[in-house]
Amino acid sequence: MLKVSNVTKYYDDFKAVDNLSFEVDKKEIFGLLGVNGAGKTTTFRMIMNLISPSKGEITFNGKKIDYNVTDKIGFLTEERSLLTKMTVKEQILYYGALKSLDKDTILKRLGKLLKRFEIEEYKERKINTLSKGNQQKVQFISAIINEPELLILDEPFSGLDPINIELFKSVILELKEKGTSIIFSSHRMDHVELFCEKLVILVKGKSVLEGYLKDIKNDYKIKKVIIEGDVKLSELKKIKGVISAIKTASYFEVSIEDESYYKNVFEYLKTKDNITRFSLEQPSLEEIFVSKVGEAYGK
Ligand code: ATP
Repeated sequence: MLKVSNVTKYYDDFKAVDNLSFEVDKKEIFGLLGVNGAGKTTTFRMIMNLISPSKGEITFNGKKIDYNVTDKIGFLTEERSLLTKMTVKEQILYYGALKSLDKDTILKRLGKLLKRFEIEEYKERKINTLSKGNQQKVQFISAIINEPELLILDEPFSGLDPINIELFKSVILELKEKGTSIIFSSHRMDHVELFCEKLVILVKGKSVLEGYLKDIKNDYKIKKVIIEGDVKLSELKKIKGVISAIKTASYFEVSIEDESYYKNVFEYLKTKDNITRFSLEQPSLEEIFVSKVGEAYGK
């Protein structure tokens, strides 16, 4: 288990991470979220022991993170860091050696992973001749060649088409099932929602919201009502408790102050006779994220 306890990081006088604490268990996918500059990369670097916290402590399975421990961690960085003149095989042999693996083990694992990522034919190809998506697959393989106990994934889907996003998602879920602890960071809240049972949202290095996604959604008072049918936007907006209402291509989406105002919308719909859908829904993580970050910036 990864335990980040009261960690603060200063770059000179600038506080990039402010008293951050969280835990990631085995078989758990944890979301570390925040806008640009919130302190995510700084936190990843501290976990990888590339930089040290100014205050606080980070442990993995009860031990402080040193080189023996980082051998058991995989890190897919946001900025791509492949040595593009090498072949795929040379690259993975290089990364595997950095993680203290012997050549036979690396090659055996590489064979399986190239097959799993459907790029077996590129083993002897130079990386700079591969497409962006295939380079991303090689980068992912380099992050998991050590069969990590803790895997950090920073924007793992960038540059991938929808088919390959599905492939990556299934590989990530397989790793979780095998017991890997995963920290996932992305600006795409729909991806985060798919994976993360637990998360923290950082603003200027400080946690502004943390906990289990299910609880976060339940506790968030503003709810959504989805309506399909012949209703008027101007009338929806006048209902007591309605914060906003929009019309999408196929339905109306109404935000209400809290669940109790659901019945006001229902009373209005009773005056209409061609309603085909009416449902109360949880807010999306994207809405919660925008609202929490906005609040923290005083908007
Ligand atoms: P992004 O989503 O854009 O990757 P992030 O959440 O990863 O952002 P960090 O890269 O951790 O954010 O940066 C947090 C803050 O610390 C930023 O204000 C950044 O400018 C600052 N910072 C990062 N690295 C350094 C450094 N080496 N020296 C000084 N300041 C730094």
